[in-house]
Amino acid sequence: MDEADVISIAREFVSKVDVSNIREDLDPYISAINAKVKFEAMEEGASGYTLTKPNGKHIIVVNSLESEERQRFTVCHEIAHVVLDLKSSHEEIPSYSIAKRHPNEICCDTFAAELLMPYKQWLANLPSKEPSLELIQYMAKLFNTSFPATASRFATLSPTPCAFVTMERGAVRYAARSASLRQARAWISSGSVIPKGSIAQSIRAINLNSTEVGEVAQDIWFENWEDGLDMWELSRHYAPSDTTISLLWFDHEDLPEKEYDRFGTQVKDDEGLTELSGVLEWSKRVKKR
Ligand SMILES: [Zn+2]
Repeated sequence: MDEADVISIAREFVSKVDVSNIREDLDPYISAINAKVKFEAMEEGASGYTLTKPNGKHIIVVNSLESEERQRFTVCHEIAHVVLDLKSSHEEIPSYSIAKRHPNEICCDTFAAELLMPYKQWLANLPSKEPSLELIQYMAKLFNTSFPATASRFATLSPTPCAFVTMERGAVRYAARSASLRQARAWISSGSVIPKGSIAQSIRAINLNSTEVGEVAQDIWFENWEDGLDMWELSRHYAPSDTTISLLWFDHEDLPEKEYDRFGTQVKDDEGLTELSGVLEWSKRVKKR
């Protein structure tokens, strides 16, 4: 099961549910899988798990000590385990490890993002502005989601080239890219160290909770990338967990010509991916105005 499969299953699931009030209340999703949610104080780092009764009813148990946004994410992540029929691997990776997250868990996170921020609602509510701290905070508040989950969603559905990088203890854990950056083959390896000269590296060095925006060279982040071009980096560091996130974006005209020409044609054939990104719907909406 790859990312595109997960997204299409999630969108199918969302399409069968009344999502008009989903930003307030996840009940329609919960009842759609014949589940009930229970809250319980758990140890730090634990978010939740699911028990399935012999009669087929699921009990999703959520850590009541985590934030409301986190609890909502956990509910949707657990729904993903049920719908995708993927086993939990919550115990396999110790919290001190920078090892890659288990593929099942990445699939369930992707699924959860589709449920919390349904793409049609997202695109209908997204102000057509340049990315900024305020814009991500606005969308986070609107969808009742955490800053990192919102920034990641922003990058994935962005009509302009954009990426979202999650880093832990100084190493890249995961990078999500917009359709245009995937087409341009912009690649950031998980496990690589936070690049020198990035905003992420400079704010992590200070070791305080902070957020900063600035211009950086594109080739410090992307592998085998043309030099001489700049892009924006909005980075936030969470000192207690030593977690850093970066939203990277640039204008279409700043995509290196070579990479785009060389690979663009080949990838344009892949209409499935383009449609899944929501970019098509976006352009239609813009043209109407
Ligand atoms: Zn899980």
